[in-house]
Amino acid sequence: MFTRNFTIKDYRQGLVGKKFSVAEAIGVFFDFLKKEDDKLGAFLAVLEGDGKEKAKELDKKLSQTNPEELSPLFGVPMAIKDNVLISGFGTTAASKILEDYVASYDATVIRKLKGADVVFLGKTNLDEFAMGASTEYSAFKQTRNPYDLSRVPGGSSGGSAVAVAANMALGALGSDTGGSIRQPAGFCGVVGLKPTYGAVSRYGVIALASSLDQVGPFAKTVADAALIFRTIAGQDKFDATSADVDWIAVDEYRPEEAKKLKIGVPKEYFIEGIEPEVKKAVLGAIDKFKKDGFEIKEISLPHTKYAVSCYYIILPAEASANLARYDGIRYSPVAGIDKEKTSLWDYYLKQRSKGIGDEPTRRILLGTFVLSSGYYDAYYAKAQKVRRLILEDFEKVFEKGDRGVDVILAPVSPTKAFAIGSKSDDPLSMYLADIFTIPANLAGLCALSLPAADPKTFNKENLPVNFQIIGRHFEERNILGLGRYFEEELRS
Ligand code: GLN
Repeated sequence: MFTRNFTIKDYRQGLVGKKFSVAEAIGVFFDFLKKEDDKLGAFLAVLEGDGKEKAKELDKKLSQTNPEELSPLFGVPMAIKDNVLISGFGTTAASKILEDYVASYDATVIRKLKGADVVFLGKTNLDEFAMGASTEYSAFKQTRNPYDLSRVPGGSSGGSAVAVAANMALGALGSDTGGSIRQPAGFCGVVGLKPTYGAVSRYGVIALASSLDQVGPFAKTVADAALIFRTIAGQDKFDATSADVDWIAVDEYRPEEAKKLKIGVPKEYFIEGIEPEVKKAVLGAIDKFKKDGFEIKEISLPHTKYAVSCYYIILPAEASANLARYDGIRYSPVAGIDKEKTSLWDYYLKQRSKGIGDEPTRRILLGTFVLSSGYYDAYYAKAQKVRRLILEDFEKVFEKGDRGVDVILAPVSPTKAFAIGSKSDDPLSMYLADIFTIPANLAGLCALSLPAADPKTFNKENLPVNFQIIGRHFEERNILGLGRYFEEELRS
């Protein structure tokens, strides 16, 4: 029998074993999400017609193909963050300035998922232009945490995290510039992977900060996240920052290989201000590794304390340049401003004031300022130097050989999911929510966020807590292997 809480692996077994068809399963997902999403607000658009059509086609293929030739993601229903382009459908980045924009091509990650016969259920909500940590900065709707509807799901990929956590999809895509996959995964008790900078093409993904952005998966298990990652990773001629790496065996799991990894625990990540329950859950996970015989070492990443300030110079600088293209003439204009009756300058001004919300505006102003002549060296150039020091901290502890560690284990966020409205008027406290996720982005490293306890044990009083495993550049196999070891052997 088909149930919505299947993992991707269960789903495949059922499909191949002819227990249900793709069309049946997809129908159940659409019925459920249309009903349930009124309450949760995860989706900005539901792609029902297209999804059902695709499911029919796939059933035909299923009946004519040897199961071994089908992709591991065959027929898998996925949700896509609405800053990733799917040709022929709207892509808003949750901003009014893109409300009527229709994508004219597929992002590379979408092209790859289409090639793997994935079915797209819909586009998910986010903070406007992926700027935020709660999904409250969406111009369109409020997304709620399925464990407690009065709380945020995290952000900016809140809709994607909720879609997976509430069993509205088997997997999802998000983007992580400063934590936007790992933090919502943590607030919603699912698995989220931020790949190494350069592992996944960003072609067709609305740019926030180009030296930091990466696209990655959400899933219920580490094994599922690894399957999605393997499918979307790889070099792409349309993204010059994508690297030529062989990902064929990245999802291969060998417990004895995971067992050899040396784990570092950074003392700077257990600072004052971290909620006691978060600390307890993360230390509990570390203890499980220790009792199982893993080598654990305390390490120091001394420049961690500068990461948030450094990020909030670099990100606004890059975002102000990236967002300059939304002028109300290209893409889609905001309705109700008469082009004929305004000068070009006023038209731009009106379009951007009406179309771009408070948080992106704040960052555009900040970014323009730190890049302006006279201030560039004092802010932007200095932040680049600090970024270098943060990277060097990691390089030192990741040194190969006896002295170094292979992976770092740390909390994802200092708190559990917070109440809707509790930080939205206070940008600074919202920024501080990213204190543990930002360093991996600044250093370009891969990082996996996974539940510290069995998600089935989470409820309103006992909200999810994730921890993260940070790895060296392009060593996704290590963090996925260790995450899977924890999930399958140690977590109870
Ligand atoms: N919360 C962070 C920010 O507001 C992260 C955003 C992201 O990763 N897209 O910038």
